[in-house]
Amino acid sequence: MIRIDRLRYRYRAAQPLALDGVSLDIERGGIYGLLGPNGAGKTTLISLLAGLLAPQDGGITIDGEPLAVWRAVHPAAIALVPQDYAFYPMLTVAENLAFFAGVQGLPRRQRQENCAEAMAFACLEAVAGRRAGELSGGLRRRLNLAIGLTGAPEVLLLDEPTVGVDPQSRRFMLDAVKRFAAAGRTVLYTSHYMDEVEAVCADVAIIDHGKVLTAGTLADVRRGGASALRLTLVRPLPEALAADWRARFPAMTATDNRVDFPGLASDGLAPLLTELAAAGVAVEHVAYGAPNLEQVFMRLTHHSLRD
Ligand code: ATP
Repeated sequence: MIRIDRLRYRYRAAQPLALDGVSLDIERGGIYGLLGPNGAGKTTLISLLAGLLAPQDGGITIDGEPLAVWRAVHPAAIALVPQDYAFYPMLTVAENLAFFAGVQGLPRRQRQENCAEAMAFACLEAVAGRRAGELSGGLRRRLNLAIGLTGAPEVLLLDEPTVGVDPQSRRFMLDAVKRFAAAGRTVLYTSHYMDEVEAVCADVAIIDHGKVLTAGTLADVRRGGASALRLTLVRPLPEALAADWRARFPAMTATDNRVDFPGLASDGLAPLLTELAAAGVAVEHVAYGAPNLEQVFMRLTHHSLRD
């Protein structure tokens, strides 16, 4: 278990806290999604877990041991794959892997084995001799991942690993993350792509302004949002009916041919459809149920644009 306990972090005096009392329990063996708008504190949290920043208040324990103590015993067991490309563009793929394996201080044979495994895991053998700076966006992301694997880590911290890649490379990356975790290892996965997080993460936390807004299993986090109804009509909602519904359902919104009812109980559904039929408005599509992760995310973090 990775236990994050009331963690606080401020970059400079007088600035707001980047992390303001974050507590999370991350089970070992699985993929944990860390979500939040720009500036929420995700990278700061990952940097603290990776040991790049030191906690100022609160703490992190792994299997009951303080992070620094655990790390001293298992120096390569937590690896960070950063958002930015972290390799030497003038070196080849193989040279980059050898270099980053080298700085981990592992015995030579172990280094060679780890590099071969990382290369195979990220399917980079065919480009082993190519300069990193000449690779496509998808291959660069795969090299970033492979470098993170050169220490054969138990815990992988992935900071937005699919930014700027095509759908095929995204699919590869998601499958790779699942393969990694299927071997009993742990992934902390940050992404702005909710569909990715829904596809691979069993547990998620949504943070904003350095605070945890919600955390738990994906199902629990989605259930935490009340059911919603979305109607797609063949034409815009007639004004008389719109005014009537607005008076009865203040949360309702109507845009073009779409009408949304957040927090509608299931027994409210049939009467609305009857009223539409009576008004002669045909319905093209009805969607009702628990909100998806994106809807929960937008509700909790609000819709205002972030810097
Ligand atoms: P993004 O999705 O944009 O990567 P994030 O959730 O990773 O955002 P952080 O990068 O952790 O957010 O930033 C949290 C807060 O700390 C923000 O207000 C940010 O401006 C601030 N911050 C981050 N890095 C530094 C730094 N090196 N010096 C000062 N403030 C920083």
